[in-house]
Amino acid sequence: MERYIKFQSPEGTGWGIFEDGKIVGIDGNPAGGYERDGKFYEPGTIRLLAPVEPTKIICVGLNYKEHVKESATADEPPEEPLLFMKPPSALIGPGAKIERPEVSERVDYEGELGVVIGRECRNVAVVEAEDYIFGLTCVNDVTARDLQKKDHQWTRAKGFDTFCPVGPWVVDRLNYDDLLLESYLNGELRQSIQTSMMIFSIPELISYISKVMTLYPGDLISTGTPKGIGPIQTGDRVEIRIEGIGSLVNDVL
Ligand code: MG
Repeated sequence: MERYIKFQSPEGTGWGIFEDGKIVGIDGNPAGGYERDGKFYEPGTIRLLAPVEPTKIICVGLNYKEHVKESATADEPPEEPLLFMKPPSALIGPGAKIERPEVSERVDYEGELGVVIGRECRNVAVVEAEDYIFGLTCVNDVTARDLQKKDHQWTRAKGFDTFCPVGPWVVDRLNYDDLLLESYLNGELRQSIQTSMMIFSIPELISYISKVMTLYPGDLISTGTPKGIGPIQTGDRVEIRIEGIGSLVNDVL
């Protein structure tokens, strides 16, 4: 199991893995394979960035039963995965600030497990889907809830700059079947679920999405939020914590 990071150092942007308390540099986005570049960094000298460079971010709506109940967008769980997208321009890393847009009066956090694709795939069978996973990370699917209700689709509500915090790193070779996913607002537990409670499993989601669009190494799938969503205000701190991965913490501007 490795932890893959993207970071800003005085020399520029780089990618790396943690090893013996140091960061070992690698030659680019690791999702499609990588080599060490021979450089080493002290963790205190770098700033973490979002550890993904996706061509697209595909999100799944209403993938936990209890969240369907609290959401005003549907009465029943969907019969097929409900997909929408966020633009890569919405990505921010750990520690970066979530900006609440002036046009929204209700911005919510949504803690989610993110899946990073490791190999190009199209029309993948459910039983083969696991072979196309590179790793897992934490995602906050920040949502302008009032605009989601107002617009006929979700592009604006989900797509503002800073609305996709991801990190702190991508972890490979971690079993995703039954991880504890938690969200904290100002240190208070707000969401708590086992990923085994997803309506559509990760292999089912990869297979389904790959029948719509080709997935490329580095593409990010956010697998849906459980119940307990709520609004964030200026000065709040949101933490998305997933067992075996770590904590993604962002403050709200
Ligand atoms: Mg969501």
